Amino acid sequence: MGGTRCARMGESEAALHSRQGRLRLAFTGNLDGASASRACPPGGDAGLTFPRGVWYAFAVLRFEEALSRILALGTPALSVERVPIEDLDGRVLAEDLVARADLPGFDYSSMDGYAVRTRDLGEPPIRLPVRGESRTGVLPDALAPGSSMRIFTGAAIPAGADAVVMQENVTRDGDIAVFTAAPRAGQNVRRRGDDLAAGAIAIAKGTRLRPAHLALAASLDEAEIAVTKRPEVAILATGDELRRPGTDAVPGTIPESNTVVLRAMARRAGARARALPYVRDERAATERAFAAALEEADVVVTIGGVSVGDHDLVRPALEAVGVTLDFWRVAMKPGKPLAVGRFPRAGRRDAIVLGLPGNPASAMVTFALFGAPLLRALSGDARPFPPTRRARMTRAHVRDPGRLEFVRAMVGHGDGGELTVTTLGNQASGAVTTMAQSDALVLVPAEESGVPAGAEVDVLLMSDLCG
Ligand code: AMP
Ligand code: MG
Repeated sequence: MGGTRCARMGESEAALHSRQGRLRLAFTGNLDGASASRACPPGGDAGLTFPRGVWYAFAVLRFEEALSRILALGTPALSVERVPIEDLDGRVLAEDLVARADLPGFDYSSMDGYAVRTRDLGEPPIRLPVRGESRTGVLPDALAPGSSMRIFTGAAIPAGADAVVMQENVTRDGDIAVFTAAPRAGQNVRRRGDDLAAGAIAIAKGTRLRPAHLALAASLDEAEIAVTKRPEVAILATGDELRRPGTDAVPGTIPESNTVVLRAMARRAGARARALPYVRDERAATERAFAAALEEADVVVTIGGVSVGDHDLVRPALEAVGVTLDFWRVAMKPGKPLAVGRFPRAGRRDAIVLGLPGNPASAMVTFALFGAPLLRALSGDARPFPPTRRARMTRAHVRDPGRLEFVRAMVGHGDGGELTVTTLGNQASGAVTTMAQSDALVLVPAEESGVPAGAEVDVLLMSDLCG
């Protein structure tokens, strides 16, 4: 068993900060230091070493530490595959995309008009015969000395020409073009390599590709690109009370609502996700279901049963099938019980387990804050965790201090156009309604007993967390 020293906490935070410049920026001075001592097992301050099992049994990790460890599990990213550009939206670039040629590849006209050689021209009005034409898709002849050439948008500038006069500024007198103003060299000419020079990095490794990146790749003549494979995620809800939504409402049962939301969030984070059949609160069935899922998926997300109640079987079942738990409690609200571990597989990458609490708001918030970033890290995304933003509270939020809280809120705009947040009434971890209404989470540091109206706070936008 590997040991864990308390001092490790500082090291892994430093590692997180160096990999996550934005996170450090966002969190400096905002997240609590108050719970730091609780992140160490008893005696940890003396630098004692604890067997791993003992460590996680005691530890309540700070949020940053938990996030840092989870992101470390997602590193290095999964292997690489080549994908046609049509299917690249949302995928993460596995190597720098380097321009193999200049972009654009030749000088061309940005206007319909007349190509000219400015050196040849005298004072306006200028009269030049029109000789030939340059149209798109065909290379033109060279410009004859002392003449102009008809040219169209996107067509190559003929050799010898250095400007294009837009046709609105030209009158025709039979074969003669008459220019009322003297054109400037380079006017309406897009030069080869203006956009990007051959050899330059067009898109950096680790970039999550958006539609505009696809256009850039296509412009660079790339038909297929190396991206990181999408993580496979299996989602397993546990609980005797669960039934499929829309099925017979047997008294005492509830419609299961976590797998749909987590599956959608996992897909938005770039994973292939599927929900497995619900697992009853029964030890043998739980172990069987976990063991099967861990063989198949890169990440297994369990829901519920992770606390300390008599029917909370997830942790013992995970350990029984061979998962090494890294930690299982984080000083945050909602979502304190959260089991994180690894499952070794012969000749393959370890599977990663996230054991989320079953309360719907806790499950969603912990998945948004840990699950989605883990999936992004596995996909090679250079920015697995989104930046926090500053916003002004429209009303006070009062609460009991103790844990870093992520308060459900709605964003808006103040009179000056600044971002505002309005915290929502029901912050219970079972409240699905405010979860659906919220489009942001306000971060309230552990030691604070509330935030007054008008205060500036850090917020995480749901669209950033689960865009
Ligand atoms: P647990 O984490 O298993 O102790 O569950 C905490 C609360 O969340 C209980 O009220 C459960 O009924 C509820 N819950 C657990 N799993 C789900 C689920 N998948 N969908 C909806 N509610 C759930
Ligand atoms: Mg349960």
